[in-house]
Amino acid sequence: MVLIYQDKNSGGVIVSNKKFIVANWKMNKTVSEAEEFLKRFISLNKNIDIEVAICPPFLCLEKALKICKESKIKIGAQNCHFEKSGAFTGEISANMLASIGAEYVILGHSERRNYFYETDKIVNKKVKTVLENKLKPIICVGETLSEREKGKEKEKIKTQIGLTFKDIPPEKISEIVVAYEPIWAIGTGKTVSIEECKEMFVFIKNYLAFEYGLKESRSIRLLYGGSMNEKNAKELLSVPNVDGGLIGGASLNPFKFTDIINQAESVAQ
Ligand code: PEP
Repeated sequence: MVLIYQDKNSGGVIVSNKKFIVANWKMNKTVSEAEEFLKRFISLNKNIDIEVAICPPFLCLEKALKICKESKIKIGAQNCHFEKSGAFTGEISANMLASIGAEYVILGHSERRNYFYETDKIVNKKVKTVLENKLKPIICVGETLSEREKGKEKEKIKTQIGLTFKDIPPEKISEIVVAYEPIWAIGTGKTVSIEECKEMFVFIKNYLAFEYGLKESRSIRLLYGGSMNEKNAKELLSVPNVDGGLIGGASLNPFKFTDIINQAESVAQ
């Protein structure tokens, strides 16, 4: 059973009227390219009125934190291991990320699930360690094209949220950000229709409220990700219950990303 918590504007629950825009740079930009981007981006966005986080590759994190220190831009990582330390060659722990001042960690991105075989169980362990280290997880969920074609998208999202949120202490739930990213929309130029987007976000909001309590679920921010760009950002960000966006390709260019930020600032729920 799914309870519907009506809000007078959206039909769901409002978290905040300010959008949250997150850049996922994936495996792009050297340290000097990141530096060039950030300096330009800061100069273009002196008075940001929303929350913005940039998630560069691990190697760029320290430099990014230093450059963004005096700005409102927050810095996050794209992944971490669930153990604190040990024999995990090539991995980075949440504890290490916290020690340099990172604030967010993207977890369970479909590319990590697909290419690195991350399961919901692994993502759940990562969410726990991220929260224990006082970082904020951005948990990615999304269906494949064939799941959507079979009408199984909501079932998939429900399963992914249920498993990745398993045994998270109630007082920590509000720290979580969920990014709904239909896999078929990532990096393809395709997006969900506005109607599909509306339907999915009401579904997620109601599911979270039913499972984790209205009060806790109110603070969980919900992002849309999947080919969001400067041409479609305003429309997607205007959908009720969409609290922001997770942006890959279009976040690599400081001008395009600034355009998206400006659109996000202009949209109020
Ligand atoms: C992503 O990688 O999270 C993403 C949404 O990518 P893109 O914007 O390029 O589709």
